[in-house]
Amino acid sequence: MRTMVPELLTSLEEYKGIALDTEKLDEMVHRVTGMALLIGVQKKISAPDAFPEHVEPMPFTLFPSPLPADIFKQSRELQKPFQSLIYKVAHDHEFMKQALQDILPVDEFTKELWNIYETVRNEGVVQEVSVMLSRNDFMMEKVTRPDNSEGLVIKQVELNTFSSGAGGVMGAVSNLHRYSLSLAGVQYEDSQLPENRPTEGLAAGLVKAWKLYNKESAVILFIVGTPRPDMPEPNTPDQRWLELDIFRQCSNIRVIYRTFPQLLAQLMLGQHKELLVDGLEVAVAYYRYGYSPSHYPTKKEYELRLTIERSRAIKCPTVAFHLAGCKKIQQVLTKDGVLERFVAEDKMRDSLRATFVGLYSLDSPSSDYIIQQALNSPDRFVLKPQREGGGNNLFGEDLKQFLHKIKDTHEKSAWILMDIIQAVSSRNRLIRRNIGPQVRNVHSELGIYGVLVCTPDQEIDNFECGYLLRTKPEEANEGGLFSGQACLDSPFLID
Ligand code: ADP
Ligand code: MG
Repeated sequence: MRTMVPELLTSLEEYKGIALDTEKLDEMVHRVTGMALLIGVQKKISAPDAFPEHVEPMPFTLFPSPLPADIFKQSRELQKPFQSLIYKVAHDHEFMKQALQDILPVDEFTKELWNIYETVRNEGVVQEVSVMLSRNDFMMEKVTRPDNSEGLVIKQVELNTFSSGAGGVMGAVSNLHRYSLSLAGVQYEDSQLPENRPTEGLAAGLVKAWKLYNKESAVILFIVGTPRPDMPEPNTPDQRWLELDIFRQCSNIRVIYRTFPQLLAQLMLGQHKELLVDGLEVAVAYYRYGYSPSHYPTKKEYELRLTIERSRAIKCPTVAFHLAGCKKIQQVLTKDGVLERFVAEDKMRDSLRATFVGLYSLDSPSSDYIIQQALNSPDRFVLKPQREGGGNNLFGEDLKQFLHKIKDTHEKSAWILMDIIQAVSSRNRLIRRNIGPQVRNVHSELGIYGVLVCTPDQEIDNFECGYLLRTKPEEANEGGLFSGQACLDSPFLID
């Protein structure tokens, strides 16, 4: 690692000597925002009239953020081994049962998922093939090496196994940044803004699954959120990018979109457990929805999930992969000796483990100590439930108050504590509603996309396929694009 951290603490503007007065900045923001819309860096917003397709630009950074090339390479290289790890976890019934047993009595949602998993396992699985489209999220921490020089290391936030989004829109973000750099007159090597087409890879995973299903007339089902007049599904453009890449790779695959309420009315199983929607046979059921308890307002939605799980359709992902993405599993994997069960090679184990920060259960014999630590210094930790989608974690004073409330109850088993990643700050301009475009201190989160197509006996395909960089004000706790204050960004690779 040759990069000196001080370089990272400057903005790209400082690094490249870009000078922007107010007039130039206004013009740039205006032109880059227009370009963002034109090339598809957009999300859906509510429509005040009948015309359904209202969009606005996704939040983005005006410039890419400097990132050491070796950090970028290392994050990408870990994707395959991380996916192999999750593959083994999801197929290790004993391990999953042990790891999750304490949270099932106190976490209704995880319990419902577990019941679906057990039911189908006991009935006998009729579809051996499954697909996972994952995204492994990291933040960068500063370290001081033994020789007192400073460098960066990556630390894992979480590995998403369900509804890993933003891959479509990311394909356009490096082009957007090429545009802003050209407006600013910046010279750079082409390789410093690396190619990024996540949905090409993600689509290849779904197309592969469709081919393995081996029925020309069968469709790929996108299970999506239910739009409301006041709140459309903002992810729609992102999903369309994926659909477009499926179409480019195999134009005779038909993609259908359905919400849970539509599926409740239209879905049934055929004689040989074919998944039928409106009379169409489903080859691949791809979930962009269904990761939150609020998506299952009644028992009927869980029954729907069970029907899909027990069907012949290939699931993306199966309930087993969904459960393997739980924060609880992430925490158990950091315990002494656990990685040894899944990763034979010492060096690889060390590489994976080096990305872990401390994760702690609240119900083990040593928990009292860590709970006390968190009560004394809440800013050193984040408290997480078994949830996805952003906005569920507790930080600072909220963490402290909540921890006080649950520390002597059974409910604490449903939560885990995680060390705060001491993310290194950079500087950039964030172009998003209600945030001014002035240069500010920011934290970036790098996500790596990957595809795993497998049966219980073998990994058929396992590959990495691109990245997401999200950047948020350093004072914001969460870096969600929709739920938090993050902006789409791209890495500007430096040595
Ligand atoms: P979710 O499943 O809701 O996305 P995450 O575990 O990814 O939950 O956390 C949401 C966000 O909170 C992350 O994107 C990151 O910005 C922030 N965050 C999570 N864990 C940490 C941590 N250990 N240190 C610093 N920030 C964190
Ligand atoms: Mg996350």
